[in-house]
Amino acid sequence: MPALRLPGLIDAHVHLREPGGDHKEDITSGTAAALAGGVTMVLDMPNTFPPLVDAQALALKQELVERGALCDVGLYVGATESNASEAAALGGHAAGLKIYLDQTYGPLRLRNLAALVAHFRVWPASRPIAVHAEGLSVAMAIGLARSFSRRLHLCHVSRADEIALIRAAKESGAALTCEVTPHHLLLSEADAQRLGPYGSMKPPLASTDDVSALWANLGVVDCIATDHAPHTRAEKEAESPPPGVPGLETMLPLLLTSVAEGRLTLERLVQLTHEAPRRIFALPLQPHTRVEVDPDARFTLSHKNLHTKCAWTPFEGMAVQGRIRRVVLRGQTAFEEGEIRVVPGFGRAIKPVGN
Ligand SMILES: [Zn+2]
Repeated sequence: MPALRLPGLIDAHVHLREPGGDHKEDITSGTAAALAGGVTMVLDMPNTFPPLVDAQALALKQELVERGALCDVGLYVGATESNASEAAALGGHAAGLKIYLDQTYGPLRLRNLAALVAHFRVWPASRPIAVHAEGLSVAMAIGLARSFSRRLHLCHVSRADEIALIRAAKESGAALTCEVTPHHLLLSEADAQRLGPYGSMKPPLASTDDVSALWANLGVVDCIATDHAPHTRAEKEAESPPPGVPGLETMLPLLLTSVAEGRLTLERLVQLTHEAPRRIFALPLQPHTRVEVDPDARFTLSHKNLHTKCAWTPFEGMAVQGRIRRVVLRGQTAFEEGEIRVVPGFGRAIKPVGN
């Protein structure tokens, strides 16, 4: 097959870890990993230290992005029990509101009903509310979004019963979108056993039946996002390892392999990783931007070639087909043959458009 040209991928769910976690990733290393993976825009989650939950933290993070980013970065605002009005005031500057309904890494879990209702009541109706919801929390989030006519985006859906509920909600007219991760599409409980702490993430890897259900219901899925969540090897090998795995650099080769295997069309890949995230989050166009891929090149995924600071991958040793040769962002070669070609500050802090 001749060389392929794809649009710049948009990853709607990453953790760049800065501020407060830059020993495991920072904005420069995380966006280097993005470019190496053909991703030219990422949406960064707010569970940093301190968390991004107010105007001051948003301004600080925008400054860090303008100084350190290699690709474009949009930012989520995090929901707390007391920041509903303040978060809503930032709606025009943020990729969305992030609500953690279930336990994950970081300080932002929210289970107080009054606080949840306050967020769904005052967050701008035109902007998405992204939720980390597992099991029953999925039903709770759908109910809240419908009650207040808000746009819900369900992060990293991983279970058969969840995707079945999402299908039913969509068929009944609910304004909701959802994402799945490459690791929930391509790994299962058996891999979690094999990988130990390196296969631990939230939501955890699921059964092969769950994995099959995600593939069978891929028509209901709006986007594929990595939930790139690096931790150091030392942290992963400690007594209570934090959940999370990196994913920015491996997503496109893995998905191109699924295309080569006939499980996914190239058109659908572009919808899931570019068109849908741009539409859902009202993201600006990146003119003169493309990813050049050799669709026939076969190689083995390895920690040795990664740009993420954590320098490991749960997909170690996996044979893939489809190598990213070159990434052009705004007319400039940003990545070529394994090397980053732009300097920190080339990437921009982005805001939604047209809202
Ligand atoms: Zn996450």
